[in-house]
Amino acid sequence: MTGSESRTILVVEDEAAIRDMLSFTLHRGGYTVIEAADTREAIEQLERKPDLVLLDWMLPGISGVEFARRLRQEEATRHLPVIMLTARGEEESKLKGFEAGVDDYITKPFSTQELLARVKAILRRSQAQPENEVIEINGLELDTAGHRLRIDGKPMDLGPTEFRLLNFFMTHPERVYSRDQLLDQVWGDNVYIEDRTVDVHIRRLRKALEPYGYDRHVQTVRGAGYRFSKQV
Ligand code: CA
Repeated sequence: MTGSESRTILVVEDEAAIRDMLSFTLHRGGYTVIEAADTREAIEQLERKPDLVLLDWMLPGISGVEFARRLRQEEATRHLPVIMLTARGEEESKLKGFEAGVDDYITKPFSTQELLARVKAILRRSQAQPENEVIEINGLELDTAGHRLRIDGKPMDLGPTEFRLLNFFMTHPERVYSRDQLLDQVWGDNVYIEDRTVDVHIRRLRKALEPYGYDRHVQTVRGAGYRFSKQV
């Protein structure tokens, strides 16, 4: 898919004037826009499967950051990109937002150009990992749309982070990635996660694959990082 003609953006903002301005700008930018004045409406609008959520920080009832956290906890919206809108002076709260899994920030007031540039960048990044396909390597079968892993035809459970990690490895085999690179690629630009988090999830991934002998595909490259190799 190229261009923005068929991408849908959900705008969650309680102030009607700002919501209208956002919708107008995004619509002019070629996007389909759906709107919500609060998180209750936003939950209903999620059924229309938006490609990105533009989420205001200050909302009545459940705050934007709390809503972002809930999106990350739900299987259906775990990978849905979120851009948070903050007012000037709320910058110190960004840490909380990144912890909640927000992908990017826009500080009000912002220009039309800035808004469209950020949206475009985040959508491009979220497309970087192919969706709706089955990747198969030596009997390891990853169904990215269904979020399922099968080993030698048998379905098995994998945690969401381990799934994304394995997805990244299987789509980028035979190359060494540092912990920082893996954080960027698998966790997004979340600078607040420690390097050793990568090691924890690598360990869990190996443990899940170990009974089937596939843990050997996930290789440690001393002093450099990790590599997924088809040859073991
Ligand atoms: Ca607001």
